[in-house]
Amino acid sequence: MIVFTDLDGTLLDHETYRFDAALPALETLAARGVPLVLATSKTAAEIGPIRQALGRDVPAIVENGGGIDWAGDAAVTSLDHYSDIRAALDAMPPRLRAMFRGFGDMDEAGIASLTGLSEERAGRARRRRYSEPGVFSGIEADRLEFLGWLDDHGLKGAQGGRFLTIGRDTSKARRMKEVRAELDRRLGRPLAPVVALGDAENDREMIEAADIGVVVANPAHAPLPPLAGEAEGRIRRTAVPGPEGWNAAVLGILGEYAPPTHGGASG
Ligand SMILES: [Mg+2]
Repeated sequence: MIVFTDLDGTLLDHETYRFDAALPALETLAARGVPLVLATSKTAAEIGPIRQALGRDVPAIVENGGGIDWAGDAAVTSLDHYSDIRAALDAMPPRLRAMFRGFGDMDEAGIASLTGLSEERAGRARRRRYSEPGVFSGIEADRLEFLGWLDDHGLKGAQGGRFLTIGRDTSKARRMKEVRAELDRRLGRPLAPVVALGDAENDREMIEAADIGVVVANPAHAPLPPLAGEAEGRIRRTAVPGPEGWNAAVLGILGEYAPPTHGGASG
């Protein structure tokens, strides 16, 4: 098995960013040697402390699928295009541009007050390579016009639980395939089933592309509409939000697909 997971509102509590409630499932995954891959809108700079807290050097799909950060691996797999995104924003019609306030338009204190992060964490969130998150303040028609303009200029906007994130090739699902192919290659056999957990629209593709998808409840925003594969039972939803729901879902899947081996050491 291999597990891909979103962080905010999924493995991490939407408000506190903690994951204590998921420790039983995390420890079981580690004990059984199941690879865990983070898939987040966070930057590589922000993943360091999370890896430390997890106690595992897990790979991370960063900046909403903009790039892959292989733990401790110097190989750069994605080209930096943050400056191109900022240049495109500057070329946007002023009326549309005024409705978007990106991280690059704010200082650390501004990002801290918007996210509830400490200024040190906000500084890590501001160290971007592949994407620009921000707050969009227009009505729905403006948002569609904004997304259309981005599309015409080779960029995509993805709505997460908190931010609209702009990137060139931001797809958690595409990066998921790349990570899995690389891990399969290193292992010499395919990792299956692929499990993916997320709470928001920017996780939808990843959840739909997995063998087993999990929508983690997040009362902070409207629930995701029915997803492709949900009616067939490939996708399940948690009853409780955040790490508590994550824990129950992962332990349930482990019980169904990777029961503990008997008569030998675990893992
Ligand atoms: Mg999320």
